[in-house]
Amino acid sequence: MATSTAEVTDLLQHLIRNACVNDGTRGSGFETRSADLLAGYFDGAGLDVQRYEPVPGRASLVARIEGRRPDAPTLLLMGHTDVVPANADRWRHDPFGGELVDGEVWGRGAIDMLNLTASMAVATRNLAASGFRPDGTLIYLAVADEEALGTWGAEHLTHHEPDAVGADYVITETGGIPVTGGDGDVRLPVLVGEKGSCWCTLRIGGTPGHASQPYATDNALVTAARVVQRLADYRPTTRIHDSWRRFLEGMALPDEVVAPLLDPDRFLDALATLPTGMARQFHACTHTTIAPTVAHGGTKTNVIPDAVDVQLDIRTLPGETLPDVQAMLDEALGDLADRVTMLEVHDDPATESPVDTPLWDSLARASRAFYADSHIVPMLSVGATDARFFRRLGTTAYGFGLFSQKLTFDDYVTMFHGDDERVDLESLRLSTELWEAVARDLLAP
Ligand SMILES: [Zn+2]
Repeated sequence: MATSTAEVTDLLQHLIRNACVNDGTRGSGFETRSADLLAGYFDGAGLDVQRYEPVPGRASLVARIEGRRPDAPTLLLMGHTDVVPANADRWRHDPFGGELVDGEVWGRGAIDMLNLTASMAVATRNLAASGFRPDGTLIYLAVADEEALGTWGAEHLTHHEPDAVGADYVITETGGIPVTGGDGDVRLPVLVGEKGSCWCTLRIGGTPGHASQPYATDNALVTAARVVQRLADYRPTTRIHDSWRRFLEGMALPDEVVAPLLDPDRFLDALATLPTGMARQFHACTHTTIAPTVAHGGTKTNVIPDAVDVQLDIRTLPGETLPDVQAMLDEALGDLADRVTMLEVHDDPATESPVDTPLWDSLARASRAFYADSHIVPMLSVGATDARFFRRLGTTAYGFGLFSQKLTFDDYVTMFHGDDERVDLESLRLSTELWEAVARDLLAP
């Protein structure tokens, strides 16, 4: 095993074993363990290392190589150190063991995203140790609390420590899974934006009464059932936005496949011919989605309920605002709209970075050293990452990595927050070398 591959493997195993499980509560995560681990790893490499711990246990770590020219661009490589919980009974190997089995490191976070957090750290240390003194500044950020809302990690740092984490360009999770285009060349998706989440609770009202005489009662549960059905039946408008168009056109697929997927009138018929997983993804990329997920209501078996609360997970496209969402709900509910009150809303709008940037060009150039004839293609993420905090400051932020072809796109998607999460050593080597190549390309004179 080459030195860097051995190093990134070992670091990843330790990050997995730290088990920084974030269950959404303030007292979970305890990412301080991994901040300590990384501080120890960087020791003696000549990097400027700082820690930020807004609440006890939730530490993030910044390491930087200061550029020689203040007007040159700054690149920030960001990996999170927390992971989601894992149910060990469902795994073939201990999710927090970090075992190396047949050339793969197993454990929670092996793909999301301790693999990249580790490879970014090794690349940064390698660059510092090699005496890399670029024009632009390179910042490495190991951030806490990505798997909840980013409150104690990226949100805190972008709001309170702009001097530490301010950058022109950010790379974080996730992308770079090789897929084959229609012409046989490799395509590497870059996440250039992500959908917003607008989580809300709807209260559906009724009139209480004795459940022994239900005739002509105003039963909130019955109304709620109709509300949920209308939301499920609602067909939001198909939006063919620029990154969707560029993604499809970039895949070099036959025109008979591409044309209907770029036509709002034929889009849904085209989806019906695709495998379900792909159809779901394509639908989410081009529509606002509304999913009723939780319902609470009623008090007692013999009481007609006067209130039912229904929670919705709504995901918005770039440019959509809360009034747009409210208009969609009104349209979906029709004459039931006045039976519904919106109680709580957590609106986190979509974000998107431009595609024509020096970082884009650097990623394209650097990737070709690993996959000759590869092309990078933009994608919109349907989930959220810490990139959103940086995009809101005007930073260009992409999700990227580089993976071997041992893993299929489907394998990869299934392992995110799923069982038997693991990564192969070749992927660890590729991403480590990619970060070094991108930093040299973008920041060097
Ligand atoms: Zn992640």
